[in-house]
Amino acid sequence: MQVKSAEFITSALKPDQYPPEGPPEIAFAGRSNVGKSTLINTLVNRKHLVKTSSTPGRTQMLNFFAVNGAAVFVDLPGYGWARVPERIKKQWGPMVERYLSTRRTLKGVVVILDIRRRPRPEDAELINWLLENAIAVVLVATKADKLPKNRRIKQVRTICGDLGIAREDLLCFSAKTRQGLNQLWAAIAHLLEDAPGEP
Ligand code: GDP
Repeated sequence: MQVKSAEFITSALKPDQYPPEGPPEIAFAGRSNVGKSTLINTLVNRKHLVKTSSTPGRTQMLNFFAVNGAAVFVDLPGYGWARVPERIKKQWGPMVERYLSTRRTLKGVVVILDIRRRPRPEDAELINWLLENAIAVVLVATKADKLPKNRRIKQVRTICGDLGIAREDLLCFSAKTRQGLNQLWAAIAHLLEDAPGEP
């Protein structure tokens, strides 16, 4: 997909702050520091559209971005960062759940894992919750460049085993080498195609 424009729309904590429902939306979720901002920036071919935070867990709002005027990317706040105060941790679930369960233009969620780490309970909980709620999931293992090929293959097997998913349901990605970029765009385009009113 050729990205001609990508711009920040707004940040929101609750529904009356969301932008009006318009083009189909794709949300991005993952643990803090997993590489979510970098992945979105790579997708839209911009270095700093989504701010990569040096303090993981700092960005605690839903951030909406317009892509080509034809899709909206929603950066969900990262979860699982130990240093985030309890009050904010408690806020994460309801805030994200409310968005995911009420947004009619949401077409799917890209869930991002770090290829070097086994999924944590929060990752599995999110994935299961999405599947139970019939929300399409694209699973991505990012930072693939950080492992040599043989360890990458082994780690993909471990992650898929942990989550009980098929090997072909986990997409390897690297912002550094751009491995998996075309496949990820294809998966997103597929979700967007289901959108009514799309050409
Ligand atoms: P976020 O908190 O999930 O948004 O994570 P960031 O996008 O800020 O990334 C966290 C760190 O991982 C940063 O230092 C990034 O440069 C690094 N990073 C992200 N993606 C990749 C990748 O694909 N390869 C490598 N080598 N580093 C990455």
